[in-house]
Amino acid sequence: MLERRDVLGGAAVTEPVWPGYRVSLAAYVCSLLDPQVIADLGLGAHGYHAYRKDPASFTPLGDGRSLLLGSDDTANAREIAAFDERDVAGFAAFEAEALRLGTALFDSFADEAPSWSCFDAPTRAKLEGSVADLVERYVRTPVLQATLATDGLIGTGAGPRDPGTAYVLAHHYAGRALGVQGAWGFVRGGMGAVSAAAAAAARAAGAELRTGSTVERIALRNGRAGRIELRDGTTIDAAAILVNADPKTLFLQLLERDDVPSELHARAAAWRSNGVSLKINLGLGELPDFRARPGSNEQPHHRATIHVAPSIAFLQQAYDDARTLGTSREPMLECFMQTPTDPSLAPPGKHILSIFAQYFPYDRSDRPWEAGDRDAIADRVVAQLAAYAPNLPNAIEHRQVLAPPDLEATLGLAGGHIFHGELLPGQIYDQRFGVRTGIDGLYLCGSGTHPGGCVSGFPGRRAAQAAIADAALGSLQASHRG
Ligand SMILES: Cc1cc2nc3c(=O)[nH]c(=O)nc-3n(C[C@H](O)[C@H](O)[C@H](O)COP(=O)(O)OP(=O)(O)OC[C@H]3O[C@@H](n4cnc5c(N)ncnc54)[C@H](O)[C@@H]3O)c2cc1C
Repeated sequence: MLERRDVLGGAAVTEPVWPGYRVSLAAYVCSLLDPQVIADLGLGAHGYHAYRKDPASFTPLGDGRSLLLGSDDTANAREIAAFDERDVAGFAAFEAEALRLGTALFDSFADEAPSWSCFDAPTRAKLEGSVADLVERYVRTPVLQATLATDGLIGTGAGPRDPGTAYVLAHHYAGRALGVQGAWGFVRGGMGAVSAAAAAAARAAGAELRTGSTVERIALRNGRAGRIELRDGTTIDAAAILVNADPKTLFLQLLERDDVPSELHARAAAWRSNGVSLKINLGLGELPDFRARPGSNEQPHHRATIHVAPSIAFLQQAYDDARTLGTSREPMLECFMQTPTDPSLAPPGKHILSIFAQYFPYDRSDRPWEAGDRDAIADRVVAQLAAYAPNLPNAIEHRQVLAPPDLEATLGLAGGHIFHGELLPGQIYDQRFGVRTGIDGLYLCGSGTHPGGCVSGFPGRRAAQAAIADAALGSLQASHRG
């Protein structure tokens, strides 16, 4: 296993960004990790453990009201009824539908030959629709609509009224890692603990894992992918090569142009992966004190995903801004604090606040990214959040900003796209790249293949199964020839 960085795990890493802190640099919450992968690799015995994020969401409003939702149906009903009694039943019906869609997705995530037509026509039509249409069908309160709609926009270069965003929402209801359909959780030790457990399982099974090993080129031998050339000049011959770099990196950079079939090359070149997500990690001296739920003492809402998303119109404006002005003036924010659940990640009394902000495209419509943009955006985002939690600016002791070009440079994600390419119809199921790449001996085992992005293990398991099946077939044919 060859990794260019000094840290294993790609976008699922925990790093000592500041002294005494261990920060989930990129990915921060877990849901889609396949229970079968957890069991097969014995990840639990290697330290993996996840805590359910409950409450699930907290959305403060400028007028001092707020919406807190979690696993308690009675509490949810009380919260929603404070806005509109009629939405209590609507929310229950929405949840049932989102979970139905998520369940259908999960049940097809391990498919060897994924096909969009595995869904019936009404389900396909729903998933191909917009997330705004989906939530508006069930609920009418703007803050509830927006809180629910954000799941259809995460990581995605589309607005709430764009087709296919309902699929992205369902993708976020598909996970079962927490033992409850659609639930999300924090991993003990941060998301890097998933990678560390997988690495320990691999080592225990005899794998050799090398960090600081940049693959420069994958070369063909006798028409098969068979040789890896490292930047330091080392070459490694291999019977099969499995790659979890994103499709653009694999097909446009790591392989010689002449070794990539023209159709595959054209698909990779046209692959939509203009990342729009910017991540800010903050080290805090105290918890945010929200006007809507006062106090910087630890409270349930500090464990929830904290949304700045008051209405679908707000989300649409954030997206429209990026198209016309380059970036969102008031971005959609999803904030997470791992430390109330896992205090071991920060020095005593300190906290980590991660802010995931959209829309900040890698390819901006106004001009290229400039060095000063990060600080200007982070100042703006902190001010935006401070309108709800006024103690925030003074509580900040450390700050890290990762714009899409930084995600590309640090994590090797082409275009800074968090999912290795949009998870929208046209790039999912049979229209995502196959684990079998079309080049013998070369397999795609990362998010560029079905079922796409998120820390799930599905692409790796599917690719490993394909490579094992092909190897068995190869030896069977050889023995027949013999
Ligand atoms: C900011 C951010 C937030 C996210 N939040 C979440 C979340 O909360 N929950 C969730 O489930 N998912 C989240 N995701 C998505 C999730 O992290 C990814 O989908 C997933 O980690 C991808 O795993 P992967 O194995 O496909 O590829 P990656 O994690 O991208 O790994 C690819 C690896 O290949 C290495 N590499 C690339 N080129 C070379 C080369 N030439 N030589 C050697 N090594 C190379 C890279 O360094 C990297 O380690 C997030 C992603 C980002 C960026």
